[in-house]
Amino acid sequence: MFEAPRGTRDFPPWEMNKRRYVEEKIRDTFKIYGYREIQTPTFEHLQVFTLKSGDAIIDEIYSFKDKGGRDLALRPELTAPVVRFYVEKLQMEPKPLKLFYIGNCFRYDRPQKGRYREFTQAGCELIGVDTPEAIAELIALAYNLLRNIGLKNINLHIGNLTILSFLFRKLRISEGDKKEVIPLIDKEKFDELYIFMQNVGLSADEIEWFLDILKTDDISRIPISDEIEEEIERLREIFRFLKDIYSIDCKMKLSIVRGLDYYKDLVFEIEAPILGAEKQLCGGGIYELIPLFGGRETPSVGFAIGFDRAILAAESEGYKFPTVYIDYYIIPVTHSLLSESIKIAQILRNRGLLVDVDLMRRGIGKALKYAASINAKHAIFVGPDEYEKDAVTIRDMFTGEQKLISIEGLKNL
Ligand code: AMP
Repeated sequence: MFEAPRGTRDFPPWEMNKRRYVEEKIRDTFKIYGYREIQTPTFEHLQVFTLKSGDAIIDEIYSFKDKGGRDLALRPELTAPVVRFYVEKLQMEPKPLKLFYIGNCFRYDRPQKGRYREFTQAGCELIGVDTPEAIAELIALAYNLLRNIGLKNINLHIGNLTILSFLFRKLRISEGDKKEVIPLIDKEKFDELYIFMQNVGLSADEIEWFLDILKTDDISRIPISDEIEEEIERLREIFRFLKDIYSIDCKMKLSIVRGLDYYKDLVFEIEAPILGAEKQLCGGGIYELIPLFGGRETPSVGFAIGFDRAILAAESEGYKFPTVYIDYYIIPVTHSLLSESIKIAQILRNRGLLVDVDLMRRGIGKALKYAASINAKHAIFVGPDEYEKDAVTIRDMFTGEQKLISIEGLKNL
């Protein structure tokens, strides 16, 4: 016997119903905000991913050589592939370019609840614009996507790497030390951060000043300086748009770093506290990747939502996904009426209704039980007495109520 590989999942019909429902909600929301869907290959040249993150990322991804000896990788995320696609074929498209995707990703992660080796991301890239209104719209989109799939309790945090770098400069933290400091900030290990900063010679006052700013959500606590004045004003404007126009509650959180080599300026995250350890649902920000892929420098910003986690979070909050019903289940009462029953099924199917017909020559009782198990709204009995009068019996599967209807009448159901 075989099992699905570690960290992968099979999805039975009732799970697929949920996934397709959520996918459609996500698609609709992207479209409402003017985004257009794209698709890129499931595997790329390995370099598409190492270019940004270096060879260290190879440990975290599924990479392989194909029969032609090419180094390839199953995509661990979609921003790099989309940027590769943009530089290759879409650079001349009118701006802003609003692209979205829903696709499976692969990471050699340690599997646990909410963390898989194959999972789905839904995300977008906004290319050619980084005005405060563009960024606010993008963040509002991420937030509303999650709200539209039924999530109630989500928190949006906005960070800023330009401001963080300014604070590092003020504290004279070296490039080498930054590499140690950033993961501690990212994981909010403030005690360890304190000790590290002490060891590199910072005073208790300096460290506390820094930690206070990292922990505050109050923009006015950031020290005033010409170097970051413009950035702070931009951040204020984005907050204003989000709060006053989009009515979204958001908080500044400078401890969001998301890897300094990839993102710049603004970064943001949305989390669902109900998920506990793996609570991060969405991450995004302004990034600099296009020139790295050989394209002309263009502002770009995007985000990715963890599709699987979003479903988990909605369910944990008690959200009930709509049941998928079939419209009619057709039961030939005698074997002699099988062909007529199939004909009736085809009449209804041609009208786009969801129809199934008994294929197992079962008795009425068993056929009805099966009809209930596949969520049929109605059963249609094709019986000899009624059929002789060009009629069939329709049963409402919820109330049990039955009525006679002419075959001609079926065409107008
Ligand atoms: P990232 O590209 O790492 O910023 O991830 C974006 C989102 O994808 C995260 O916020 C998670 O919700 C989701 N995600 C990342 N890795 C996994 C994984 N191994 N399994 C399921 N979801 C994941």
